[in-house]
Amino acid sequence: MNINNSGWKPELAANDSNGDAGVATFTGNRALMLDEPLIFEIGSNATTGVDFAACDARHDLGALARTAPINLPGLSEPETVRHYTRLSRQNYGIDLGVFPLGSCTMKHNPRLNEKIARMKGFGDVHPLAPIPTIQGALAVIHELAEWLKALTGMPAIAMSPKAGAHGELCGILCIRAALEARGETARTVMLVPESAHGTNPATAAFAGFSIESIPATAQGRVDVAALEARLGPDVAGVMITNPNTCGLFERDLKRIADNVHAAGGYVYCDGANFNAIVGRVRPGDLGIDAMHINLHKTFSTPHGGGGPGAGPVVLSEALAPFAPLPVVETQGDDYVLIEEENAAESHPQAFGRMAAFQGQMGMFTRALAYILSHGADGLCQVSGDAVLNANYVLRSLEDTLDAPFAHSGPCMHEALFTDVGFAEGFSTLDVAKGLIDEGFHPMTVYFPLVVHGAMLVEPTETESKAGLDQFIGALRSVAERAKAGYPTLKSAPHFAPRARLDETQAARKPVLVHPLISAAGKRITSP
Ligand SMILES: *Cc1c(COP(=O)(O)O)cnc(C)c1O
Repeated sequence: MNINNSGWKPELAANDSNGDAGVATFTGNRALMLDEPLIFEIGSNATTGVDFAACDARHDLGALARTAPINLPGLSEPETVRHYTRLSRQNYGIDLGVFPLGSCTMKHNPRLNEKIARMKGFGDVHPLAPIPTIQGALAVIHELAEWLKALTGMPAIAMSPKAGAHGELCGILCIRAALEARGETARTVMLVPESAHGTNPATAAFAGFSIESIPATAQGRVDVAALEARLGPDVAGVMITNPNTCGLFERDLKRIADNVHAAGGYVYCDGANFNAIVGRVRPGDLGIDAMHINLHKTFSTPHGGGGPGAGPVVLSEALAPFAPLPVVETQGDDYVLIEEENAAESHPQAFGRMAAFQGQMGMFTRALAYILSHGADGLCQVSGDAVLNANYVLRSLEDTLDAPFAHSGPCMHEALFTDVGFAEGFSTLDVAKGLIDEGFHPMTVYFPLVVHGAMLVEPTETESKAGLDQFIGALRSVAERAKAGYPTLKSAPHFAPRARLDETQAARKPVLVHPLISAAGKRITSP
């Protein structure tokens, strides 16, 4: 690190952003946690980790030729490795501790999945490899598809969508294609409950529908009467999350589905919370037409960090003909890929494609490994344990935190709390920041929107009682500080590499260079 020695005085360090007066260091490092500038601050145009031979073959690019240096932040190879390794130590991940983000379902990623995904025949497979050479990979996609159809009780599936939101778009495009095939293009309204995840209305709008919001009841469920009153010849369908984002099972989904169908619409189910009911409820039995399955939520594949995810969509008989290509099918003992060239006979109404190729192979192998290692009985226990853990959190904290729906019975896989009872001027955000000081990634905050200052805690099934007790103790302690109006909570986190940010300011006026580093890359004052 470039330090201008002469400028540093220990007493200046008293204003350390972390507020611990008099114990700052010359380097800004704290014990073995290294203060890491941005790569643009430490890299230089003159340095590179790779030696290229001088390039003499010049093409005449005319006005397109570069006249100034490209200003890539070059570092040597070891400096590059260190930079990213240091940054990674400032990150928090599921392998470090409880990651209680509600709705996101941050599951442990079993190492067995990783081992299977790295096997040569899976890890090195290429999407353009000749079909006879990738029979095993196609068998994985096909077997996973069969499991997902069996677990959801649905007859068809599209495997290629790359995330939950992408799967939503796939399902809604199937609905649009089905309406067009029926000549019912006047059905332009999609009904979405107000507790829905933001991707639901965004998806419907992107697919050309207008959105109308359906209110929630005081018990945190969809207001069935309001929904049914709105059904009519302009309604294309509804998008309902079950279990919903308040952590409650929508008990009336079957009745809703029957009535939506009777009125000529379709039912999209947001399946992001399928992990709470997998092995126990088959959404197909509730009459839905389409549902995405976030493999990174229910089936333990990693969230991001290795490429796109996977959000396969199961479909009803009514929507199956419109499923996008490609489709993996069996012909005799062989697996075949149905694409545009060979779809005319078997899939003439396919609406198009969601992705260039077959989907995210690395996620398919991991998810199938998870399913096969648990088996049907194991998956049933997974959802049971997830619900048990969430109820343990709910009942352990309802004496300290306001739990708006706790009176209406047990929750599903996540516990919802609000900011009711906090001291004047103290908010959910303060509790989230305080949890960072306690060593936990905060829970989901300010979602769902149906309650004020929401805190949505999802422990998942693999947390031990000891781990949950430690998290509950930390959240209780921070919540008590918010209720008592403990002043230092307002400026938490105190122990993180960066203290509380002004998020509005950061978004509107981003400062992309560390203020303590001069343009020449020299640290000009103490940290
Ligand atoms: C996560 C989530 C989504 C979106 O899924 P992604 O895989 O993140 O695109 C949609 N709805 C709900 C309720 C979710 O929790």
